Amino acid sequence: MILSGLRYEGPIYRPPSEANSLLVQTTIGCPWNKCTFCMVYKNGPKFKIRSIKEIKEDLFWAKENYLFPVETVFFPSGNSIIMKTDDFVEILSYTKKLFPNVKRITIYGSAQYIIKKGFDDMKKLSDAGLSRIHVGLESGSDVVLKNICKGSTSDIQIQAGNLIKKVGIELSEYVVLGIGGKKYSKNHISETIKVLNHINPDFIRIRTFLPKINTPILKEIETGKFKILTPHEILKETFDLINGLNVTSMIFSDHYTNYVRVNGRLPKDRQEMLDQIKKESKRDKDEFRKIFIGTE
Ligand code: SF4
Repeated sequence: MILSGLRYEGPIYRPPSEANSLLVQTTIGCPWNKCTFCMVYKNGPKFKIRSIKEIKEDLFWAKENYLFPVETVFFPSGNSIIMKTDDFVEILSYTKKLFPNVKRITIYGSAQYIIKKGFDDMKKLSDAGLSRIHVGLESGSDVVLKNICKGSTSDIQIQAGNLIKKVGIELSEYVVLGIGGKKYSKNHISETIKVLNHINPDFIRIRTFLPKINTPILKEIETGKFKILTPHEILKETFDLINGLNVTSMIFSDHYTNYVRVNGRLPKDRQEMLDQIKKESKRDKDEFRKIFIGTE
C-alpha cells in the first residue's frame, strides 16, 4: 500500500516530553475508558489494536519521508502496553532496525495491564527496546482510585511501578492534585506519598484536576458530591506532596493546569521547590487561573 502520510484515528495524546518524537499509533482509543475525570476517548472511536502490518507501514513511511533523524518514538494511543507481547516485540525490533539511532521508545500503560504481563513479558519488551512507560497513578489512595474508577488499587500501582523498574524501563508516574476533592484531599496526598515512596519512579509528573466536559466527575461537581479545591488548597497539596516524598525522582510540573511550576530533583531541590510554593501561596486567589471546564 502506498501511503501519503502517517495515519491517525481518534484523539492523539502524548506527554509534553514527547513533543519532538515520531508518533505512530499502535492502539486506537483506550481499552479501559472508564476513569471518571477523563474525556479523551469517551466519544470513541471504539478501542482497537492496530495490525502489525499497518503499524509497520506507518513506521516505514516515516523512515522514507521524515527529513530529520528520528531519535525518539512514542506509540499512542491509550495503553499500548495491552498489545500481545510478541507483536509488540516485533514492532519494537522493526523500529530499531529502521531507526538505528533511536534513543528512546515510549508508551502509556495502566498499572492493571502492566501487572498482567508479569516479569518475563515485561523483560522481553525492555530487551526489545521499550525504554520508558508513562503510568497514570493519579492517586495512591484506594478510596480515591475507586471513586474515579481507575481500575487499580494502591497495591496494583506499587506492583506495576516496581515491575517496570525491575526490568530496566524508565518510569514516569502522574499525580493529579485535587482529584480527591475537598473530602479526600488529606488522604489523597498522604497515600500518594506512600505509594510513590514504595516505587521511587524516575519521574513524577504533577497535573491539577480540571473538570472536563462530558465526564462523570463533572456531574458529581454539579450535584455537589465532589467539591473542587481552590488554588490555595491545591498549593497546599503540592507542598505536602513534595515535602513528604522520600524518593530520588525528578519532579516535573509540566502542565497548563498547575498553579505553580516546580521542577527539580528530590531530595536535592526540595527546599527550593517548597520555597517557591510558599511564595506562590501568598498570591491573592484572583491572581490564579480561573477554574473552568476543559474541553480537551
Ligand atoms: S485516564 Fe487513561 S486509562 Fe483512564 S480512561 Fe483516560 S486514557 Fe484510559
